[in-house]
Amino acid sequence: MEVLPLHPHGYCVGVRQAISTALEAKKNYPDRDVYLLGLLVHNEETMKDLSNAGLIPLDEREKSILEHILDRKKGDVVVFSAHGHPEAYEELAKEKGLIVIDATCRYVTENLLAAKEENSPILYVGVEGHLESEAFLANCPEATFYDVKTGHAEFMHLLAQGGSPTIITQTTLSSLEVESALKDIRTLFPHATLSKERCHSTSLRQKAILDLPEDVDAVIVLGSKRSNNSLKLAELAKSKGKKAYLCLGLEDVKALPLGKERRLALCSGASTSDATFDAVLSYLRSVSSSC
Ligand code: SF4
Repeated sequence: MEVLPLHPHGYCVGVRQAISTALEAKKNYPDRDVYLLGLLVHNEETMKDLSNAGLIPLDEREKSILEHILDRKKGDVVVFSAHGHPEAYEELAKEKGLIVIDATCRYVTENLLAAKEENSPILYVGVEGHLESEAFLANCPEATFYDVKTGHAEFMHLLAQGGSPTIITQTTLSSLEVESALKDIRTLFPHATLSKERCHSTSLRQKAILDLPEDVDAVIVLGSKRSNNSLKLAELAKSKGKKAYLCLGLEDVKALPLGKERRLALCSGASTSDATFDAVLSYLRSVSSSC
């Protein structure tokens, strides 16, 4: 079995920045509680490392980000995640006397700024309930939401506004989702333009999957089930007719029923560390040399 590592892999620039921002906050406020509002990045191994460094993660599935903010006391430090957040939450945190640190990825911010500078109606394409989509819609309430899972949007409302909408997407969608949404939207609005879409990191990782050689039988995607960009890599691999395995780390990979593959590709989502990638790669190489 030959193992083919795909590039890029490991943390993306936004995740790297979010992690260093959070660690710096702890360094700057060593005597205060430093809370991560929601998963700073969608990866359980990385969140464990951050907990071990003294940061306190607050999971958005247990309570909403708003409730977590309301629970904090004056002088606490709160770090907003890479996915963005409603601006009103930041104001509320400051009013409560919290110290606010913003780890929003610059690509997420760029998509929001593009929307704010547009004069035509905005159609935002994303995943319902994802932190990035929720933050975008809160900060750009005039935008119409198109859900990639259901293909649903309030088109009637958009038609009433007249003109052609400008489309902006969540940064971590798959190329297939963007293509399908564009096709759907352009049946009603043939001149709708795509202004901002997936970030560079997401696009390159997806391109590496789409360009896989024919003789690659299977793909291992290192990433969390909660990571949208990792899920998309696995979906794309399946759409190319490959077997796809989504694994958090080495233990998951060791449990896979491997052995019959001729060539196996290894890639990672944007919130998987280089250390995890390297550990899995060297394990797979050691296994493949004995196959
Ligand atoms: S996946 Fe893209 S948008 Fe998300 S944190 Fe990484 S670089 Fe930023």
